[in-house]
Amino acid sequence: MLTTDEKLRYSRQTLLSQIGESGQLALAKAKVLIVGVGGLGTPASLYLASAGVGKLYLVDGDNIELSNLPRQILFTESDINENKAEAAAEQLRQHNSHIDIEAIDEMLDDELCDYYFPEVDIVLDCSDNMATRYLVNKMAIKHQKTLVIGAATGFDGQCLVVNPEQADAPCYECLFPQYVDGKAQSAPVENCQTIGILGPVLAMIGGMQALQAIKLIVGLPVNVQQLNLFDGLSNQWQQFNLTKQANCPTCQA
Ligand SMILES: [Zn+2]
Repeated sequence: MLTTDEKLRYSRQTLLSQIGESGQLALAKAKVLIVGVGGLGTPASLYLASAGVGKLYLVDGDNIELSNLPRQILFTESDINENKAEAAAEQLRQHNSHIDIEAIDEMLDDELCDYYFPEVDIVLDCSDNMATRYLVNKMAIKHQKTLVIGAATGFDGQCLVVNPEQADAPCYECLFPQYVDGKAQSAPVENCQTIGILGPVLAMIGGMQALQAIKLIVGLPVNVQQLNLFDGLSNQWQQFNLTKQANCPTCQA
């Protein structure tokens, strides 16, 4: 049962027939881990905390820099040099004091994944590099956790959902193989440091990640064979169908 306070607080979202009180209770019980609390992780965590997701785990070993402020919307000038996960947790508690937030002031590795992934329902990959994305993808499959991946550079963004429990669902490596003919593929040189990024593009993708997570938690259908691409110059979303690769070393092992 929702308390009187919760009924009032979440009234605009429980008014939606697809959510209702049962959806709100599901959100309160949900545990979501967010990898990377930067341009994607700050809007995504803000929406999930505000929506009443009961427990958030924030993972980031980086400290806040001046050049983060135009897009990492939870941080202020006084947070510079503070750890991102800790500073974000503090801000999110101001937004919603009724939820539980755990800040993990470390860079994600295998050990952290093995410890935290079994604890959660959904993982959001809001990292800014391919190495972390491959690790999160591999560990989400190992621990059978639904993964919502977001990425953005320049004016472009992408979002996809990986559901290891669905037999025909592709994983991130089905889309971007890490190795081809046994050779490691070089990571794209284009990233936020080299070509730049605009904050609202990250808000679109981080918001999409939060939306997908909320739909998954309340039991609404989410297409896991779809890559969503956003072009911030033409304002267009495009969807591409994805198929599981028979030779994918990660999800077919
Ligand atoms: Zn795969």
